[in-house]
Amino acid sequence: EGRRLAALATAPTLTKDGAHVRLFANAELAGDVTLARSRGADGVGLYRSEFLFLRQRGLPSEDEQFAAYRDVVLGMGGLPVTIRTLDLGADKADAAGLAIRGEDNPALGVRGIRLSLRYPDIFSVQLRAILRAACYGPVRILVPMITHLGEMTDVRRLIKKAREDLARAGQELPERLDVGAMIEVPAAAIGVTSILEKADFLAIGTNDLAQYVLAADRNNDALEGIYDPLQPAFLRLIAHVIASARRAKKPVSLCGEIAGDTQFTALLLAMGLEEFSMHPGQLLQVRDRLTQLDCGALRRAAPRLFRAHSRDEVEARLLEVVALQD
Ligand code: PEP
Ligand code: MG
Repeated sequence: EGRRLAALATAPTLTKDGAHVRLFANAELAGDVTLARSRGADGVGLYRSEFLFLRQRGLPSEDEQFAAYRDVVLGMGGLPVTIRTLDLGADKADAAGLAIRGEDNPALGVRGIRLSLRYPDIFSVQLRAILRAACYGPVRILVPMITHLGEMTDVRRLIKKAREDLARAGQELPERLDVGAMIEVPAAAIGVTSILEKADFLAIGTNDLAQYVLAADRNNDALEGIYDPLQPAFLRLIAHVIASARRAKKPVSLCGEIAGDTQFTALLLAMGLEEFSMHPGQLLQVRDRLTQLDCGALRRAAPRLFRAHSRDEVEARLLEVVALQD
């Protein structure tokens, strides 16, 4: 079994009926990048930059951030790296004391892009560091906790200004750099066609999206039966986001935990998902699962799957569809 999986590290990612799927890695530490390479990842789909801010006291400087991002870009050897801007707040309080403390409801508070836009000077340091790192390989910027289009407009304005500042200082700049939105707030998922006007790509963050759609804390074990990504209402919302991005001909990936959970691979394929981003330790298992699935048959079954009235019905229908393929 171990040897069979190991052989998959250098195999292309194809479904049973020959559809191409791209598998990306979520990364925080240098070790994740090494693992991603050795397991044949197509790139980094989510680099959680807040980990730089959680590790040390005080804010990391532009040069420190630049060095960290450049190392990831060089480590991936020319494959695309998606750097998520700071996602502090809620469960991710920082050592530097940037995140607001004492909010009654931190998950609904000043977190993610809300915090970054509150401190544009600090945010601009990060944007400059990312732009400089983007001279070393393909980089994309991903913005967490987007709620509405205006936030994307603000981010793009700050990126333009960071470019101008760097150019004035004689700094080399990347020609272009795609800017994407994380879809993890219900308003952004429901209103995704508006967000797409200002987003070059989307990444669906199902860890938070499930928490907000189901009104269930993602870290509260007592809510196990409620925090359940198999709930049909939740699945229909993800399917809506994927279909909207495909219609707009923009790339869409999914980077929540379910992307690396083989229990969900068939469902996500049925939704039309072609880019998965996961902990690099899961890459081989998901690639293996994909080789067993008939993408065309799953897509045709999608309407029936998502019209189910309960999570058990979703599971039962999914079992039927997958059993027919063996
Ligand atoms: C998510 O919310 O699904 C996600 C990928 O981001 P994080 O888990 O870092 O909030
Ligand atoms: Mg999130």
